[in-house]
Formats: sequence, structure tokens, C-alpha cells
Amino acid sequence: MKILVINCGSSSLKYQLIDMTDESVICKGNCERIGIDGSFITHKANGGEWKVEVDFPTHKEAFNKVVEMMTVGEGKVIESKSEIDAIGHRIVQGAEKFSEPCLVTDEVIQTIDDLSVLAPAHNKAHAIGLRSAKEVFGAEVPNVVVFDTAFHATMPPKAYMYAVPYEFYEKHAIRRYGFHGTSHKFVSRAAAEYLGKKPEELKMITLHLGNGASLAAVDGGKVVDTSMGLTPLGGFMMGSRSGDLDPSVVGYISELTGIKGNDLTDYLTKKAGFLGVSGISSDCRDIEVAAEQGDEKAKLVLDMYFYQLQKFVGSYTAAMNGLDVMVFTAGIGENSANVREGVCEGLGYFGVEIDKEQNKKRGMAINDITGPNSKVKVLVVATNEELMIARDTMNVVNAK
Ligand code: ADP
Repeated sequence: MKILVINCGSSSLKYQLIDMTDESVICKGNCERIGIDGSFITHKANGGEWKVEVDFPTHKEAFNKVVEMMTVGEGKVIESKSEIDAIGHRIVQGAEKFSEPCLVTDEVIQTIDDLSVLAPAHNKAHAIGLRSAKEVFGAEVPNVVVFDTAFHATMPPKAYMYAVPYEFYEKHAIRRYGFHGTSHKFVSRAAAEYLGKKPEELKMITLHLGNGASLAAVDGGKVVDTSMGLTPLGGFMMGSRSGDLDPSVVGYISELTGIKGNDLTDYLTKKAGFLGVSGISSDCRDIEVAAEQGDEKAKLVLDMYFYQLQKFVGSYTAAMNGLDVMVFTAGIGENSANVREGVCEGLGYFGVEIDKEQNKKRGMAINDITGPNSKVKVLVVATNEELMIARDTMNVVNAK
């Protein structure tokens, strides 16, 4: 079975064609600047890479170009689009409407579109992508939607409710949803498999540390709490996002700057976090280099980051009444030995100890960095959200 995995943003369309017989990537690429001047596609296949400038007024032209790149020329990997057995779409916000991946119908697309109020930056683009995919690939190819929020749907009300008047939950669906669910699911399953256990047997904390970042407490294979909230702005500090704040801070900054409403959300999404505190960069590598060179604010950023993460790990250990496994993943989690060491250093009380030499190794699908006397397994697992989407898509299609 060949599955095309799609991640549609407002001006981009990322794709990956996966052969499910061995879970290998046949080709992948990205259409960028859709609807903006200077649009182009990059396509990787057969050991080569191409960048072609093409006019993409809408996502539909982008999808047509993806089909062309896959079926014609040096980057050709299939004879025709009819070889694609199913399409799996990444959707950011499924709210309480979708707790599982499902087949796409017109009604499903409309509901995803309606959920744009909760994720304006993402769901609108996803709905456009879904409509375009249906047009370009036709009704004979099944489309499946896989939600970033779905893996967190098992959270109990005590974890997802905010202490605001109940009507905001009832009438406006304001609650914690959590994101990166596809990644948390992939790495927690991969960790259990590596340890030779069933997910049901383990209390895990998965740390997805990328530009956007979140933690999940996964008890017996089910999420019981996660750090992001109504939107991906919540939780601990990230590259350029503030994470959780005293709500009064938001009002006060608004008063001081005159920035209001969605603009303020945008400000706290793009100008805060590592970037805001350091004044240097949102990129963890730049912060680490600056801290190494003695920059006090960069050192403060790392101190804050480790401290906030330790507090989350501590509270999730309490929430689960135990901890068997910690899993680091995503850009920072997979690559920064310094961050992993900094976070784990403060967790000795919980029995967390890492092997500092093993921690320095990179580039493995799974790196077991557990120290010899550690009570908690500490793993670094390379995430693969596209593969998780393809697996979920295959399961939905096979269950039809
Ligand atoms: P996103 O998908 O949220 O954009 P990624 O998962 O790609 O983010 O992670 C990006 C982050 O990973 C950046 O902050 C980058 O600095 C960090 N990163 C990548 N490689 C390294 C490294 N070797 N050391 C430290 N941080 C790294």
C-alpha cells in the first residue's frame, strides 16, 4: 500500500509518499509560498533533489504539481496517481469532535473548517488542502484525517478544564487540548516496543522539544496530562513562545504596548520564549553557543528552560504516581545532549540518572541513555510524525 501524507499550511504543502510494505519513504517534498509571489516546489526522490519555480495561486495547483513531480521526469516514482492507495492529512485541531483518525467526508471537512475558531492559523488551511486533494485525486482515493489533538483525548476533565466560568467550556469549547499528539504517540509506542513492554505497563513522560514544544504524561498508553493548552502557545517556554503566564501579565503587556487581541497572541507566539528573554535567537543552537561564550541572558534562558521542564516532569510524576520512562524527541530533544543533561540533572530524587557518554551520541533511531543506577529509563527517540500518520491512515482504510 502506498500512502501520501500531506501537511497543509496556509502557504505551504508538505508531502511524503510512503510504501507501507516496508515503511520506506518513496519521495518527499514541499510546495512553498502558495498564494504569494515566488512560489516553488522542492522534490526529493531516487537519490536526487529538484527545486522548480512554479506559480501556485492556490493549493490546487500545488497538488497538481506534486502529482506531476511524482509521475513525470527524473523524480518520477509512480506511473500515475491511481497508484496512491490513500492520502493521510495532518490536522492540528480536532477538539472534542474528533478523538480518532477518520475518513474524510464533506461533513468532516466542514467540521474541521468550523474548528478554525480554535486554531485560526491551521485548520482553515487544512480544510482548503482537503478540498483541493479531493478535487485533484478524485473520489476513488480515500482521504483520512489524523489529528494532533487526538492522542490527548483520553485526558480526564480535571486535567483539561480551566478554572473559568463553566459556560466558556460548554458554549465555546475552551479547555486544554494539547498538540504534537502524533509525535507523543509515535515515540511512546516506539519506546514501549524497544523496552519489550506493552504501553499499558508503563508510566511515561514524553518530551517533544522542538521550536514548538510540549510534554505529555502517558500512563498505561493513555495521555493523562499535557503541557500545551487551548492553543500551542501554552506550556513551558519555547523558541519564540512564552508558554504559560500569569493571566494578568497578558493584560498588563497589552496596556503597556497597546497590542491587543489576536495581535497580542501573535506577539507572545513570535517575540517571547528563548528569543524574547535572550534578545539573541529562537534557535536553541544559537542560545547554547552564546551561553558557552558567557552571555548572561543566554545562560538565563537555559536555566529557565531546564527549571520549567523539571517542574513539569515533577508534577507529571506526581500526577501518575510514578515514572518508568522519559523519552526525549524532536529537534532539541533529539540533538541537544546539553538540554537532556540539564533537565535530568535536577531529577535525581525521582531516580533519574543518565549515562553522560552515551548521551553525547547522535543519529540513532533510539538511543538508550539510562545511567547504570537509574530507576527510570531515559531514551532518545527520533520522532516520525509522517509515518505515524501513514500507519493511522492505513488502519482506517483497512477497517473500512
Ligand atoms: P519545529 O518542528 O517545531 O519547527 P524542530 O523539531 O525541527 O522544530 O526543532 C527545531 C529546534 O531544534 C531548533 O531550536 C534547533 O535549534 C534545535 N536543534 C536542532 N539541532 C540541534 C542541535 N544539534 N543542538 C541543539 N538544538 C538543536
